[in-house]
Amino acid sequence: MDRHEKYIVVAFGGNAFQTKGEKGTPENYWKNAYRSAEFLVKIINEGYKVAITHGNGPQVGIIAEWMLAGKKLKGLEVMTLDIAGAMSQGWLGYLIQQSLYNKLQEQGLLGKVVKGVVTIVTQTIVDKNDPAFQNPTKYIGPWYNEEEAKQLAKEFGWTVKPDPRGGWRRVVPSPDPKGHVEIEAVKKLLDEGFIVIASGGGGIPVYINDKGLVHGVEAVIDKDLAGERLATAIGAGTFMILTDVDKVYLNYGKPDQKPIDVMTVSEAKKFYEEGHFKPGSMGPKVLAAIRFIENGGKQAIIGHLTQAYEALKGKAGTRIIPD
Ligand code: ADP
Ligand code: MG
Repeated sequence: MDRHEKYIVVAFGGNAFQTKGEKGTPENYWKNAYRSAEFLVKIINEGYKVAITHGNGPQVGIIAEWMLAGKKLKGLEVMTLDIAGAMSQGWLGYLIQQSLYNKLQEQGLLGKVVKGVVTIVTQTIVDKNDPAFQNPTKYIGPWYNEEEAKQLAKEFGWTVKPDPRGGWRRVVPSPDPKGHVEIEAVKKLLDEGFIVIASGGGGIPVYINDKGLVHGVEAVIDKDLAGERLATAIGAGTFMILTDVDKVYLNYGKPDQKPIDVMTVSEAKKFYEEGHFKPGSMGPKVLAAIRFIENGGKQAIIGHLTQAYEALKGKAGTRIIPD
């Protein structure tokens, strides 16, 4: 496919908005959003056309707690997980949208380099027959005791399981993303000079029925794998995944761990198959990078949020490139 060198997808991890040890006040959220906006403004100034995506694990967990507290205290109805996902896209999208808008305004870039910043409530298409639906693996929301968990499961039709870290939790499937319902709108907006925030939290999982109609499902989509779908669809040259570790490592966490500066897609596949990257954290990031390159991308970058600019310039992070 045709590649646009200066089109970039930037994926922010969960720590980008609520960092470990912070209480998660609105002030914390704003401060973190402005910090992320600084990097984005810098690259926009260099002519990059940016699509932004982000995780939502902590936020969906918080929304779930609010809903259950509301149910207990006031008898308020509990919403489904796809609706909670939509709420989280609005929550984080708004923060990025306003902080980035203000930074662009301050620098006199608005209306010149960029027409505006817009968040899209994005639906991610999954296959209704994805084997993930037979085997829910993703723990979400609060921890309960066994009795409480089983009661909630009965009430809301949830699947609950004991969490290896203790207690009982709700589990949902994590199907593989195929694409986004709103992708044409994303492309159009980028081409027209807007910064787009899309596929937040991996997007709202939906399937399309045989009449072509869209329906939400209760599942969680990995934001890095969904980010790859976005990056490939818009023909981005670069796909960047920002997280809380400076590089991808071999033998991570062991005495002989070794940071990787650059790896070809074949090397990445070999290391992936050898089990160097943990499922649920680095695994999907490297898999997303592999898919991006195999689908024609020029480079995928995985690195620390605070070294984003250096990583884009090849001075930090890990680069995954074609063979
Ligand atoms: P995010 O919220 O940004 O998606 P994750 O926690 O899902 O962050 O993934 C980043 C984490 O992956 C790091 O904090 C690190 O502990 C873990 N990790 C697992 N395997 C590796 C590896 N091989 N190299 C580097 N980090 C790894
Ligand atoms: Mg993650």
